[in-house]
Amino acid sequence: MIRWIKRVAGAMALLVLAALAFSTWQYGTYAPRDTPMPRDEAALAWYIDDYAGARRDFLARGRLLAELFEGVQHFEIPVASRSGVDGLAVDGLYIPPPSGQRHRLLIVSSGVHGVEGPAGSAVQRLFMHEFLRPENLAGPLAETGILLLHAVNPYGFATWRRFTENNVDLNRNASTDEALYRTVNAGYPLVDPLINPAGPADAGSLGNRLFHLRAAAMIARHGMPALRQAVLQGQYQVPQGIYFGGRALEPQLQALAPRLRPILDAYPLSMVIDLHTGYGARGTLHLFIDPPADPRVRQGLETAFAGQAIDWASGSGFYTVTGDFVGWLGKLRRGGLHLPAVFEYGTMDSQKTLGAIRSLHVTLLENQGVQHGYASPADQARIERDYREMFYPSAPDWRVKVIHDSRAMLGTVVADWQRVGGGGEGR
Ligand SMILES: [Zn+2]
Repeated sequence: MIRWIKRVAGAMALLVLAALAFSTWQYGTYAPRDTPMPRDEAALAWYIDDYAGARRDFLARGRLLAELFEGVQHFEIPVASRSGVDGLAVDGLYIPPPSGQRHRLLIVSSGVHGVEGPAGSAVQRLFMHEFLRPENLAGPLAETGILLLHAVNPYGFATWRRFTENNVDLNRNASTDEALYRTVNAGYPLVDPLINPAGPADAGSLGNRLFHLRAAAMIARHGMPALRQAVLQGQYQVPQGIYFGGRALEPQLQALAPRLRPILDAYPLSMVIDLHTGYGARGTLHLFIDPPADPRVRQGLETAFAGQAIDWASGSGFYTVTGDFVGWLGKLRRGGLHLPAVFEYGTMDSQKTLGAIRSLHVTLLENQGVQHGYASPADQARIERDYREMFYPSAPDWRVKVIHDSRAMLGTVVADWQRVGGGGEGR
């Protein structure tokens, strides 16, 4: 009898070890698959990796539009850098409606999260080239003003960081109310030891190789929704931590506000499409929208994106954030209606538990490296590579799909946008 029990216990211990080894292997080699796409060199050509190159192309296309249409204005918000990164600016390009009928304003913004800038900029420049054409501006966009905001976080774009030089996440920082910066994220201290480790980042350490188990233990204790919310909502307590929303509005948003207000107020209706990558199912363009309190906003968005699946950010896989950029733009308006929309191109299958854990791990390792240095040059190379891959996958299939899906989605918006609201004369 005792021998039998020992045998079962031994077999069970082996099984547990095998399961541990398998999950560790599975975690270590985690790589969500791409949907196979046809070769499309023209689609790939939209992507320009470096900030300066993407900016040059954006400005050149802006000059072309200024030749095509009346009254096109370019403005730039220079962004100073302590560490000497030169030539950083947020660029704005405003194209008033050729008809003079200022009924609607469509804003397309990129690079609020710097490292997501190369993909966002590509989609933005595609929009300029393929949709801001005379036939559209004389047709479905005749009563629409267009405002393009390029590289809202140029420092992060140029240095491959999501956050600004002040370690601030602009999508947790944008607020017209100072009270935001006194927000206490009650769940954050709970996750802080897991997500903001001290000391140089060492990707191969035992703790990092078993990160999935440490995260799983925490999920088992507190539940996935509570943890997702605590980590992602934004925090205002730990300046060196991830998802830090700052102590005040970041300088470029302060400088942008007075530029944007008169443009927004000239139209009774505005909509922003803010371009992001990282969250959600790999290769999927998620229309990611916080459930609005105002039913007119919900109706407006459903009209603008007729026939498209909207991920109202109220499902179990989603979370709400404080200080988001698209909401802030609406708050800058005096009256009128503002429709906030985010295009989020998934990369990590983060709607699944393993993908969410992996995304968090990649994010925290990069921040640890920036804050405390790296254990070795090899660790730095690996951590930086994983980080870029998470926000700007090198896989041609992913990049081609982003271009194809964006073209289709933007086509829907351009066609259906004019049906939103009653319009009315702008001020
Ligand atoms: Zn983002």
